[in-house]
Amino acid sequence: MNKHTPLIFDQSKSGRDGYKVNSGTVNKLSYGTFIDKKFMRKSLADLPEVTEFQIVRHFTNLSTKNHHVDKDFYPLGSCTMKYNPKINDSVALFDGYAMIHPNQLENTVQGALEIIYNLEKILCELTGMHKATLQPSAGSQGEMVGLLLMKKYHSIKNNQKDTIIIPETAHGTNPASVIMTGFKVKQVRSDDRGRVSIDHLKELVDSSVAGMMLTQPNTLGLFEDDIEKISKMIHDVDGLMYMDGANLNALVGIAKPSLMGFDIMHINLHKTFSTPHGGGGPGSGPVAVNSKLSDYLPSQSIGYDGEKYFFEGISKNTIGKVHTFYGNFGILVRAYVYILSLGNKGLKDVATYAVLNANYLKLLLKKHYHIPFSKGTLHEFVISASEQKKRGIKAIDIGKALLDYGFHAPTVYFPTNIPESIMIEPTETETKETLENFAKTMNEIDMSIDQKSEYLKQSPYQTPVRRLDETKANRELDINYYG
Ligand SMILES: *Cc1c(COP(=O)(O)O)cnc(C)c1O
Repeated sequence: MNKHTPLIFDQSKSGRDGYKVNSGTVNKLSYGTFIDKKFMRKSLADLPEVTEFQIVRHFTNLSTKNHHVDKDFYPLGSCTMKYNPKINDSVALFDGYAMIHPNQLENTVQGALEIIYNLEKILCELTGMHKATLQPSAGSQGEMVGLLLMKKYHSIKNNQKDTIIIPETAHGTNPASVIMTGFKVKQVRSDDRGRVSIDHLKELVDSSVAGMMLTQPNTLGLFEDDIEKISKMIHDVDGLMYMDGANLNALVGIAKPSLMGFDIMHINLHKTFSTPHGGGGPGSGPVAVNSKLSDYLPSQSIGYDGEKYFFEGISKNTIGKVHTFYGNFGILVRAYVYILSLGNKGLKDVATYAVLNANYLKLLLKKHYHIPFSKGTLHEFVISASEQKKRGIKAIDIGKALLDYGFHAPTVYFPTNIPESIMIEPTETETKETLENFAKTMNEIDMSIDQKSEYLKQSPYQTPVRRLDETKANRELDINYYG
């Protein structure tokens, strides 16, 4: 295989094309009739001129260079890289969904409104919450919405509060959202079981606490089993409980966050409810709340009067809109199809098999790798490669070595409270054989350290681009680089 694929622009030759619409079948219209002159370009767009064959080959080749869930196992912890049934994509591309305009009159988009309405109800049913907004386009934006809701709640009650508590294992977006919304962060330590330390939490909770953000199950894949106690401590100072729902894959259909005392949560539709992700979006992070907060949700939601669906009025105390129109609608369609096609039992199976797969894989790796907080693993677990580091190979070297075997690397160096962490999440759809192959590879890497540490440190060898200086690659993007 030729490793280097030139940019499509570099393949361009003037006058080449691949697909011509028969001019006899098209009514010639001057765009000037519809579009104001000032919006029209002055010269032709600089588009590559290539044949259809070149285009197909170009993008087919590019698609095989990067790793993706359709290619092989993608055990990226925290991100729930699950298989996304193709039927969801097909349905989202129906003309009735993909070709409508958000400014169309209500009576011409009843089907789309019905989906938004029903999906909101389903998400509320699954989480036990009262109302939800489907506007936020990612979990991180959902966090921001949740914190703005807290702000509104406290300002209406005239509460003087400026602090949010988050665990030391929290995802980086949590503290970022806290700072962005003008709160201060207090970090609570983990106990020796990898859960929130109740003793430390007691020290931190006072009347300045506006709320707490907690990932459930947490980023070590462990259920916060003191959750009722934690919620009570926060509620006792009139704080609010926010659940980071990125790990809902472990609970969906089984446990309702509202019953644990959470007031607000986000749901990453692109994680739990199957939308391809990892390429930078688009995503969707609906926020569901209990009745304490439903009046403050971003406007507007969809109502139903028994006959037709309609846009509800703007509530007086709303925090405002956080996305144009109703969010990333195509993602909502995918989530809706996914949920309906699985049904109640299917959704429960998602969580059950996700937990089973993680526990089986953990068992296969236990002999070679140290897993510090291993008791009560749900859908993911975290290895510490500190033993391997002593023998010369770090977590990042193991991640890079896996690429040569056709696996995506797990998440490394997160969560930060475990040295040399490698975070693995196998998801529910992976077969027993895939898990066994992956474990065999991981174990072989460990066994080869003593003879091959210099070799492993230079991996990967088989990928189109070898090991990069990751900071430099982020700061000085060079899409034409290969080496
Ligand atoms: C993915 C993730 C987020 C952020 O969600 P995005 O949809 O990527 O913005 C927050 N918290 C946890 C634990 C996550 O895994």
